[in-house]
Amino acid sequence: MQKNGQNEERKSRLLACAEQNRAGRGRLLPLRLAAAAVLAAALLALFGCSAKETEVSETFFVMDTVASLRLIGDKEQAESLLKQAAALAQELETRWSRTLPDSSIYRLNDGETVVLDEETAALLAQAAALSVETGGAFTPTVSPLVELWNIGEADSPPSREEIAALLPLPSPDFLAQARAGQPFSLPEGCRLDLGGVAKGEAANRICALLRESSLRGALLVLGGQVSCVGTRADGEPWRIALRDPDGQQGETLAELRLTDLHIATSGDYERYLEFEGVRYCHILDPETGWPPETDLRSVTVVSSDGARADGLSTALFVMGLEPSLAFWREAGDFEAVFVTSDRRVIATEGLADCLSFSNGAGGYRFEFTS
Ligand code: ADP
Ligand code: MG
Repeated sequence: MQKNGQNEERKSRLLACAEQNRAGRGRLLPLRLAAAAVLAAALLALFGCSAKETEVSETFFVMDTVASLRLIGDKEQAESLLKQAAALAQELETRWSRTLPDSSIYRLNDGETVVLDEETAALLAQAAALSVETGGAFTPTVSPLVELWNIGEADSPPSREEIAALLPLPSPDFLAQARAGQPFSLPEGCRLDLGGVAKGEAANRICALLRESSLRGALLVLGGQVSCVGTRADGEPWRIALRDPDGQQGETLAELRLTDLHIATSGDYERYLEFEGVRYCHILDPETGWPPETDLRSVTVVSSDGARADGLSTALFVMGLEPSLAFWREAGDFEAVFVTSDRRVIATEGLADCLSFSNGAGGYRFEFTS
């Protein structure tokens, strides 16, 4: 009862926060400044955009977070796509949620054999590949630990003994065998949690749907995941502000100007437990079973693949700064912004043309790295 109460409370808090964002005062949302809105309207008039082109938007709760979608284009088409996109997000949640009893993941975790649909098979295979690539920093078989910690509901951390009893976690390598249309089941004692990639893959699928249309552009926010398609109404790139982990709602550290990319942020400031003066965040180090002892407060990953951005932001947060930079140099197919515990904001050089630091903000030092 009490837990449901807490969930409801969190949900309404998040929705209120999203409303605030939409009104232009919140975190991580572009086009927040009234001045920018006025400028956009002026440019629109200047370039004589089609009178039929309009912006439609909606905020809804899905995948345990607040989602918002803004679409720019023909009104009728945009309104119809808004409904389709929201329905698709709900649909994917009913397949990938760890907690919804009819979802494929719930049933697999419950010991059932499940015939995999194409999207779920692809996501499982990608999760397995990410785990190998990140040396296990990303581990989708982390579910027993996530359940034990129960961040967001629990009042205190679990005991060392309880944590140790769940280690080592089963290897997720078997997920590479997941095939669409084939029956699949989990090895004994293994349970999945796709919370680190599901929103990113949902963003991939929703953006694919939107790209098929003739919309001018779209901006999708799914919790810590932002995806942009095309451009804003004025033909300019979307603007995405990166939040100061220590700041009040509106304080930002940098602004990205992007088209057709996914941006995922993982940090220690959204979901955590504070106990006896120590903060325990919702991302866990699969090796130790504890939140990582990391020198990072947040990691933002920019990639053309939403699931990759999502999974990597989680993994790099576990790895810490130097291993993450080495990983970035090796991988060469994504960019990142790191906020460190010693108040540095480090962006990879591929972002040089599309990122502006909020110099002077919060006593941070800002730098690009190569
Ligand atoms: P969020 O989903 O809150 O935006 P992340 O994308 O970083 O944040 O994902 C965190 C979620 O991923 C956790 O809530 C948990 O379900 C799962 N998770 C936690 N630690 C790991 C890990 N090391 N590897 C894979 N998944 C993890
Ligand atoms: Mg993630």
